[in-house]
Amino acid sequence: MKRTLLEIVLAAGLAGAGFFGWTNWNASQANVAKLTELTAESESSVKKLETAEAEVKANATELETMKAKTQELDAVKAALASGETLKDLEAAYKKEKTLSADRQVGLGALRLLTKGSKDPSTIEAFRKALVTADWGSRKKVICAAQFALAAAGEKVEVLGDCATPAEKAEQADKDKVGGPAKAAEADKGKVEKHAVHWGYEGAMGPDRWGDEFPTCAKGKSQSPLNITGPFEKAQFGVAPDYKPGQLKIINNGHTIQVNVPPGSKLRIDSKPFELVQFHFHRPSEEQIDGKPAAMVVHFVHKNDAGRLAVLGVLLKEGNENPGIKTLWANAPQTEGPEVEPEGVMFNPANLLPREYEFYSYEGSLTTPPCTEGVRFFILKAQVNIAKEQVEQFPFKKNARPVQPQNGRAIAG
Ligand SMILES: [Zn+2]
Repeated sequence: MKRTLLEIVLAAGLAGAGFFGWTNWNASQANVAKLTELTAESESSVKKLETAEAEVKANATELETMKAKTQELDAVKAALASGETLKDLEAAYKKEKTLSADRQVGLGALRLLTKGSKDPSTIEAFRKALVTADWGSRKKVICAAQFALAAAGEKVEVLGDCATPAEKAEQADKDKVGGPAKAAEADKGKVEKHAVHWGYEGAMGPDRWGDEFPTCAKGKSQSPLNITGPFEKAQFGVAPDYKPGQLKIINNGHTIQVNVPPGSKLRIDSKPFELVQFHFHRPSEEQIDGKPAAMVVHFVHKNDAGRLAVLGVLLKEGNENPGIKTLWANAPQTEGPEVEPEGVMFNPANLLPREYEFYSYEGSLTTPPCTEGVRFFILKAQVNIAKEQVEQFPFKKNARPVQPQNGRAIAG
């Protein structure tokens, strides 16, 4: 089942990695052609998949190899970080009025590689694939897309037919009522139970993340850090320019996250980074001289070249925080789909202190797949949060432990 998308993903990855090495435009065009061909081919490969699946069943070792290849996605993602290959494919596809489900999946796969599984456009491409898919042979492509997202550490929506026999039985009722298409709709809110699991404790805890996500264990520039001197002098400033917008908030099973509509920016050395989302950790992942704060909010930004920058604001126990009050009042208590409470606007600037002096270092995502190349700015000024508000946060502990500094400089 995993094979179709892996074919797309791995070939896209190879093409992307190749592109990374090349600099000339013609070569990148050839790349796009290859990718377009590839996604078109994926339809016919559904047939091949039937045979392949039988093979795979007979050969568990091969499955292991494929799993290992999926784990290499990290490296491929880094190679695609410039985003040029994706832009080219998007431009090529824009000329077509409608995209087949297979092409949507291909596009989604490339976005997954370029922008990461949490990027809204990635999810959107897969969603469109779900909608436009002709329920039948193509469902395997869709299931493959879900597995790819799962392999990237994303908890994904699942269609009944991708589920295990036990879940299929559960699913059967829905199928009887509304037919497969309705069942697909009904399942949109459902959360994948077979995705790669990770958590903050026990057998799925941070010291086991490396089993499924090698960078988490092997990376040399991991986040968070214990921030302690000596510090280098910061060479430039940061200036948040956040705007109010419709609140979109999700409990994704790991944290409360607010997805931010376009228009809010962080200027780093005068260069704009778009605010994509912000989310919370309890206690703060970062420590200052060995001490965590009560919580931290991570504002996640991305620039046009796909570079990530995280602005961290530490929350210390004190007065009630009105911004948090609004968020907690609308945050789902349990894991589920994003909600958009009607008429509730939110300005992320409400969570910022007045001063923007910071500590800064080169780090990684603090959740699987722990991708590196993320610049961190931790503001020195902290913001109040009431003790009760900390206790209302639905996650008791969702902080990755501090990671080895490995000689990295910290500006501050
Ligand atoms: Zn975070």
